[in-house]
Amino acid sequence: MGAETFRDSLSRLAHSLRDLFLPRQCAGCRKTWLHSHQGFWCDDCLDELPWIESPICPRCGRPFPKSASSPDHLCGDCLQSVFLFDSARSAAQHVGVVRKRIHQLKFGGQLHWAPPLAELLVNLFRREAWPGVDMIFPVPLHVKRLRQRGFNQAGVLAKAVGRQLGLPVQFDALVRKCWTEPQTRLNRAQRLQNVRDAFHVPDPSRTKGRRVLIIDDVYTTGTTLNECTKTLIAAGASEVHALTVCRALPDWKADY
Ligand SMILES: [Zn+2]
Ligand SMILES: [Zn+2]
Repeated sequence: MGAETFRDSLSRLAHSLRDLFLPRQCAGCRKTWLHSHQGFWCDDCLDELPWIESPICPRCGRPFPKSASSPDHLCGDCLQSVFLFDSARSAAQHVGVVRKRIHQLKFGGQLHWAPPLAELLVNLFRREAWPGVDMIFPVPLHVKRLRQRGFNQAGVLAKAVGRQLGLPVQFDALVRKCWTEPQTRLNRAQRLQNVRDAFHVPDPSRTKGRRVLIIDDVYTTGTTLNECTKTLIAAGASEVHALTVCRALPDWKADY
């Protein structure tokens, strides 16, 4: 039995024992108990999550109205080559229970929501037959905000994804060198100005020629991911892909 197989067996055994003695409540409804269940979500909640599905923009992952019944196609931004990353995808819309769990993780310090949210990213990564990547980078926080919050929500998500995918996570290879105001109330132009040249790769030998996967909690305008990508490309990364748990779609209509 190889080391990897042995480790897998141990992991399965640990999961089974945990499910036997410590059944968990579904991360969505908190009603369904998950016995001998590999995931953190019950089937009903998985069915009802606001997944982002085709038709989407193959570059930035923006969804289009289903009623258009068109195949995937580039969005207006990507037709103008606004983004530098090779691809970006979000698992779900920034609404409902997924939004709530991200809020509880980020602002309530409820770190136990990181593995269930990471599971949505792992499902997406596997479903999309993602191109090979060498390492994961979380979108970094400035050290001042890290001290305020005590943790980086992108970091805990990246750690959980890295563990589930068996990929190394680089926590300090990309740093935020400038203090930036919270982006929440800024429009796109202000966001762009706010994060311009905010990131830095201290040791480019760690990124040179590497295929990088950036992870963050929410995709709003893509400006933060784009600035991270610009810095990583300047530091020699050969490909940059991005995964976020949610995509905020302020102009999205519910009847789409
Ligand atoms: Zn549920
Ligand atoms: Zn696009």
